[in-house]
Amino acid sequence: MSNCIFCRIANGEISTELLYEDDKVVAFKDLNPQAPIHILIIPKEHSDSVKEMNDEVSIGRLFTAAKKVAEKLDTEHYRLVINTGIGAGQSVFHTHLHLLGGRLMSWPPG
Ligand code: AMP
Repeated sequence: MSNCIFCRIANGEISTELLYEDDKVVAFKDLNPQAPIHILIIPKEHSDSVKEMNDEVSIGRLFTAAKKVAEKLDTEHYRLVINTGIGAGQSVFHTHLHLLGGRLMSWPPG
């Protein structure tokens, strides 16, 4: 049994409603949403952060999946975020892409 929470979601050990799944990626709602739409898109294969992801195809597939999720949710304006490292706000050390939408967002972020 993995002690990585996102590995356990990706392999079905923790039952979670998946908004999207393919051979490399799953997507599900964030537990603590920061916007009306807040989805996490993660690779099935574990890496601590995007810094450890070396496979360009897998990196690309995360973004392709995010676009499909946005289309599925019919959201035209959205933000994609990858927090990388504690100083950038990363708290779960399994690479994930945040898809945020459904409200107006300011720039620069806090
Ligand atoms: P980050 O701070 O960028 O590492 O993002 C981690 C995100 O994972 C946070 O927004 C948490 O709310 C979310 N999160 C943590 N555990 C779970 C879980 N079991 N299911 C869904 N989202 C989670």
